Amino acid sequence: MTNCLPNESGFFGEFGGRFIPPQLEAILEELKQEYKKEINDPEFLAELKYYQKNFVGRPSEFYYAKKLTEKLGGAKIYLKREDMNHTGSHKLNNVMGQALLAKRLGKKRVIAETGAGQHGVATATACALFEMECIIYMGEEDTRRQALNVFRMELLGAKVVPVTSGTRTLKDAVDVALGDLIENYENTYYMLGSAVGPDPYPEIVKYFQSVIGVEAKAQCLEAEGRLPDYLVACVGGGSNAIGLFAPFYDDKEVKMLGVEPAGRGLDTPDHAATLTLGSTGIIHGFKCKVIQDENGEPAPVYSVSAGLDYPGVGPEHCYYQATGRAEYVTATDKEAIDAFLMLSKVEGIIPAIESSHAVAGAIRLAPSLDKDKIIVINLSGRGDKDVAEIADILARTK
Ligand SMILES: *Cc1c(COP(=O)(O)O)cnc(C)c1O
Repeated sequence: MTNCLPNESGFFGEFGGRFIPPQLEAILEELKQEYKKEINDPEFLAELKYYQKNFVGRPSEFYYAKKLTEKLGGAKIYLKREDMNHTGSHKLNNVMGQALLAKRLGKKRVIAETGAGQHGVATATACALFEMECIIYMGEEDTRRQALNVFRMELLGAKVVPVTSGTRTLKDAVDVALGDLIENYENTYYMLGSAVGPDPYPEIVKYFQSVIGVEAKAQCLEAEGRLPDYLVACVGGGSNAIGLFAPFYDDKEVKMLGVEPAGRGLDTPDHAATLTLGSTGIIHGFKCKVIQDENGEPAPVYSVSAGLDYPGVGPEHCYYQATGRAEYVTATDKEAIDAFLMLSKVEGIIPAIESSHAVAGAIRLAPSLDKDKIIVINLSGRGDKDVAEIADILARTK
């Protein structure tokens, strides 16, 4: 596949790399070498393909959103239906790949961080399947907000550990997971949930999520006889977006649009628009754009969508932004909710509130383009998990 690879040390331009305690060097290097070996091993790739097809449910549909297209009156809109995957989002693409890596490494204990619980549920799912011990670190605040996902993980046999440090959310859960890894690396695999973290994680997660873009490319060629004009995806850590974008990297005529959460507005502190308003710094062992305070500490971030409120972002997106390969814009809570309502009503598809940010970006873009242009929206997940919260918000704002 066409691609943009990091250098030997895991840098995309100035972003990425490894800024970690020395104890982790050897373990991450082992992971890197194993990963490089496995992705060239036909047996590994055949096993990956087996689970992608039979367990995740791939390939996901490439669906022409005819009614949304007509309503907006501009470019033709296709939806890449990651919401149809087992466990309801793109997360399992990455998790199944990494779980197979963990198996090859002989690790029997898997740890992961989770924010909203989507990555935790996907990880617990893979661990149930492969009979691995599973420990999920989740901010105490998030365990309360996402109680149903906590129960789901427990049903699947995972142990959910509430994290009580800091703001008791995702950032703190990652800190604790990294601490666990330092202590238990000999038998433990750290299943990172987005295209972030120290080298080689951004590369690994990108590789396993690239199945989205590889499929979308073939599906668009089949449906339209040509490549799309725009790819649109929401950006939290950046894994669903890079999964769609990366396989089109060398197709310079294909434009890429990432949509970050503007929360209550870019002129308030309540957003998580990392690429738009962040500055270069280090978080969780890698260099990227970070929303940080005057002391260089990651600042609290906010979005209506729990899956997007992370104060850092994947290094490859920072590089795409710096080089102009992709453009990054934002959508507010309100725009995302309006998009959530529109797609539900017009197409009969309830999108995840994360994915609704991408839909909002496309709703703005489509009317400005001619009818012969093509937009692909990455519909990263389904919205069932968000219905109760959206109902609450709508009741309050009536
Ligand atoms: C976790 C999640 C995201 C955000 O994560 P990325 O790594 O930025 O893709 C987006 N959409 C859904 C449905 C998610 O569950």
